[in-house]
Amino acid sequence: MLEVKNIADLKQKIKDLKAENKTIGLVPTMGFLHEGHGSLIKKAREENDIVVVSVFVNPKQFAANEDLSNYPRDLVKDSAYCRELHADILFIPDADEIYPAGFNSFADIYQLGDNLCGIKRAGHFRGVCTIIVKLFNLIKPNRAYFGQKDAQQLAIIKRITADFNFDVEVIGCPIVREADGLAKSSRNTYLNSEERKAAAIINKAMQTGQKIIADGEKNTAVVLEKIRAIIESEKLARIDYLQAVDLENMQDIATVKNNTLFATAVFVGKARLLDNFLIENID
Ligand code: AMP
Repeated sequence: MLEVKNIADLKQKIKDLKAENKTIGLVPTMGFLHEGHGSLIKKAREENDIVVVSVFVNPKQFAANEDLSNYPRDLVKDSAYCRELHADILFIPDADEIYPAGFNSFADIYQLGDNLCGIKRAGHFRGVCTIIVKLFNLIKPNRAYFGQKDAQQLAIIKRITADFNFDVEVIGCPIVREADGLAKSSRNTYLNSEERKAAAIINKAMQTGQKIIADGEKNTAVVLEKIRAIIESEKLARIDYLQAVDLENMQDIATVKNNTLFATAVFVGKARLLDNFLIENID
């Protein structure tokens, strides 16, 4: 596996691979890799000649009050894990390489970024869109892999890929969870043992929501209220948002239909944890 730190080397390598007609699968990450990232890398490995994993803690997607400086990092472990999963290239640029002096542009999104995490994390999706546009331009992947855990991010990346005419197939991958249902996340490392136990309430509540819908409830307010009550029964959990939205436009909806996304962000201690489920096959 080749580790690449600078853009000039990356571009040359990609040029060579394209000349050989190799297909490229890209897995963009912020590192501190876990089995959630691993599932994306494995799928990319199955579907492409070349797998590129990027590890970049993108400063532009963190608001001023967020955890940029504390975000967990372990490049040695990440590199070993990528090697184990047979990635071909690990792209690990410094922030100055991606945003050199004079950098002055952004890619951004309108409606899809105006709700959920877009409200709670000012400028977050502008940072996400900008780094994805740069990675797509640099790596020219045939396919790029993202987790459903960040469902709003996935929808936004699909949108900008179409809007900016990138010839990239954006592939969403299922949420990988711990045994008690907690979605795997690099941020789970912020949890102490008491908080870690408490965090299981999030998915427990979301599963109850899914069950109520399976039993016939169509009123999103009723479902959300039930989920909210369960999460709030855990004193260490504090809901940042809990909403039901239309996956197409990320706007709130009152009645459950196909492509209704139930999404939540919950603080447990200083960790902000995401979970969601999507309604797909409803009459
Ligand atoms: P991150 O390093 O948190 O920015 O995540 C990089 C990619 O991995 C994103 O596309 C995430 O949605 C995805 N990802 C993170 N956690 C999980 C998980 N538990 N299951 C599936 N995909 C995940």
